Amino acid sequence: MLISNLTFVVTEQCNFNCTYCPQTKNKQTLPLNLIETAVNFFYPFLKRDKKIHVGFYGGEPLLAFEQIRRTALHLLGKNQTGHKEMEFSLTTNGSLLTDEMLEFFNRCRFSLTLSFDGLAQEMGREKGSLEKTLRVMKRIREHPGINFEINSVFSPLTVPLLADSLRFIIEQGGPEITFTLSALEYWNPQAMETLKKELQRLTDFLAIYYKENGKIPVKNFQAQAADVNRGVFRCSAGNEQMSLAPDGKVWGCFLFHDYFKTRQDDPQYWDYCFGDLGDFIENYGSRYVEKLVNYCQLQQDLFQVEGEFCFLCKELPGCMVCPVYAAYSTGALGKISCRHCALMRTQSRAFSFFKERE
Ligand code: SF4
Ligand code: SF4
Repeated sequence: MLISNLTFVVTEQCNFNCTYCPQTKNKQTLPLNLIETAVNFFYPFLKRDKKIHVGFYGGEPLLAFEQIRRTALHLLGKNQTGHKEMEFSLTTNGSLLTDEMLEFFNRCRFSLTLSFDGLAQEMGREKGSLEKTLRVMKRIREHPGINFEINSVFSPLTVPLLADSLRFIIEQGGPEITFTLSALEYWNPQAMETLKKELQRLTDFLAIYYKENGKIPVKNFQAQAADVNRGVFRCSAGNEQMSLAPDGKVWGCFLFHDYFKTRQDDPQYWDYCFGDLGDFIENYGSRYVEKLVNYCQLQQDLFQVEGEFCFLCKELPGCMVCPVYAAYSTGALGKISCRHCALMRTQSRAFSFFKERE
């Protein structure tokens, strides 16, 4: 087992209730006594020849700042003579960020991804959160040790504001943005038409922005412009990536914990769960390989849309569907809904169009 990505799901609580979030919230928080055991066990497996990403995930992870602080400090303490290159990261709605937290993240050189939907923010979240998030954005930017990014999510409800929202964030001096389309809701034909128009408007704006500034601030379009041959996507869960959940269970990625916590009788549960941390530590030699075989099947060409394999699709190179996110709609890992596929095709066409314009 060699790991380049280790995630701690520090809490399942969240102080927001975003309409597009698939997570099942509850009060569970990662017990402090599991942190030292987990760090001591996983540390020797962290790769030496590659940057290690240590992620903190929620709910809203800042509700468990003490867990984050202890994990980062324990890892840094262990690494004093280990010479492994580590980068800490977390995604937050930003509402709970204090000066103490910002100083800690600055000192430990965290990557911080702020969930911010721009002008669409108040349609999916509480009123007044747009102004608050703009102030948070400004405070984060005052800390040069923090590597700052934004993640925006759009749904059928908020899609009419997609292009204006991303443009607004860019014009407010925001950092690089990644946007995601919520595949959990029904996109009726009108919403799909709006999506096409909004991607067209975004493409027009980005093409001009690129000519004037020599860069593309929306990350979804960057690989396209760089002409990267991305090959067939494969999920990295289990394969170089491991995650510890608040109930002490070990998974190949934090999303598996969330998906399976309400599906404990699902026949796929034990195909992917590595078991409790203590049990995994005792048996990891056999347990890891036994589950890894299943994780290795999670690649785009083996996924299916309505019984049709993705390897038959001409959009396969560059199509990246997270199998767990897709399973929230279909109820099975490896299956993708038609609406999710339609969203991928629409985005893929917009990326190709951008490449032609650029
Ligand atoms: S594709 Fe999804 S399940 Fe796989 S590693 Fe990425 S986020 Fe996790
Ligand atoms: S566009 Fe649809 S069918 Fe094609 S690879 Fe992506 S998910 Fe599969």
